[in-house]
Amino acid sequence: MRHRIAVAGGGPAGLTFARVMHRYGHPVTVLERDPGPAARPPGGTLDLHEKLGQLALDKAGLLAEFRALSRPEGQAMRILDPDGTVLRDWQPRPDDPAHPEIDRGQLRDLLLGPLDVQWGREVTKVVPRTSDGVLVYFADGSQDTFGLVIGADGAWSRVRPAVSSVTPHYTGVTAVETSLDDIDHRHPGLARLIGDGSMAVYGVNRALVAQRSSGGHVKAYAQFRAPLDWHANLDLADTEAVRSSLLARFDGWAASVLGLLRHGSAFIHRPLYVLPVSHTWAHVPGVTLLGDAAHLMPPLGAGANLAMIEGAELAESAAAAGAGDLDKTVRAFEEQMWARAGRWAKMTAAGLERLVSPDPAEAIALFDEVQPS
Ligand SMILES: Cc1cc2nc3c(=O)[nH]c(=O)nc-3n(C[C@H](O)[C@H](O)[C@H](O)COP(=O)(O)OP(=O)(O)OC[C@H]3O[C@@H](n4cnc5c(N)ncnc54)[C@H](O)[C@@H]3O)c2cc1C
Repeated sequence: MRHRIAVAGGGPAGLTFARVMHRYGHPVTVLERDPGPAARPPGGTLDLHEKLGQLALDKAGLLAEFRALSRPEGQAMRILDPDGTVLRDWQPRPDDPAHPEIDRGQLRDLLLGPLDVQWGREVTKVVPRTSDGVLVYFADGSQDTFGLVIGADGAWSRVRPAVSSVTPHYTGVTAVETSLDDIDHRHPGLARLIGDGSMAVYGVNRALVAQRSSGGHVKAYAQFRAPLDWHANLDLADTEAVRSSLLARFDGWAASVLGLLRHGSAFIHRPLYVLPVSHTWAHVPGVTLLGDAAHLMPPLGAGANLAMIEGAELAESAAAAGAGDLDKTVRAFEEQMWARAGRWAKMTAAGLERLVSPDPAEAIALFDEVQPS
């Protein structure tokens, strides 16, 4: 390949792109801000859809390995009333291939495989159209040039300003994440309530959601509508103060479900931001975006899937373009990405409105529409 290609970000988008390129024998420079793969906890679990994330892994030659690692039983979904009554309980068929779960850390390691990632390489700015190509500036003061720079650096992308002036805006919904370890032994009652997959409880403008990862690890999310400064009088680093504040917010809910908050360890504040539903830009030769950098949307099971299929598709077409017109290939890819991401952004925005809404029946109705009966 004639062009040097760099991808900023070693998340699902960047790694899938690099891994598919690797499969076709084209090296890509992966620039990742984290100092190493174990620099921070990898996060919870992801469901990978057959026609999105799994298709991307197939394009990377990793589908069999994914199937060996993934948890089809993790597709189980239970909805409870705030008083603890079970309202819905969906169980997947054995080995249901629709959207099995995989731990984020396992997915990252699967994609990393033989890739040579440049860890601790934080991109600060990208300047297209210089005489040498696209200029990339790094936090350590160094710079480098590439023929194509792909921004797969997530919600707060430093590559995005090279193509678009748009920035994410707050949805009005905040999530506070907590974790429970070894749940089957330490909290068997909660473990039974959550089951093999996910459990959600919907109240007025608030929800509690728990998702099981492998090894008895659970991530739980308290979600609620609130102004961005809801924590003005709260020290978010004070675990017990956050716990009390959340318990007060969910006052009146069954003790069984509040166990998620009572037993959760550290709390992580995650206000939900999104990019506009149809975020597009005038094509800039030499720079493009993938994944959350291009179309940040509410976390309703689509973001990583889209990031991965986009990475795989761009890699396939870039590899096929070879020494040919890479810019034309990127331009065509962007059109395809915008159309698909626009549809999902619309669906997930509408979904968030119904899941964290004044009328909890809306949340259940949404699940009834999308879950197989
Ligand atoms: C709680 C939660 C649950 C979710 N559940 C699901 C789910 O079940 N299914 C699903 O499909 N999606 C889910 N999502 C959404 C999904 O996590 C994201 O859409 C997905 O991770 C986007 O992938 P990405 O590669 O575009 O960006 P990211 O995963 O954000 O990766 C970006 C990478 O770039 C690196 N980086 C950032 N800035 C720089 C820089 N300046 N220079 C170099 N590197 C940089 C970061 O360290 C990171 O490694 C969930 C999201 C949340 C918050």
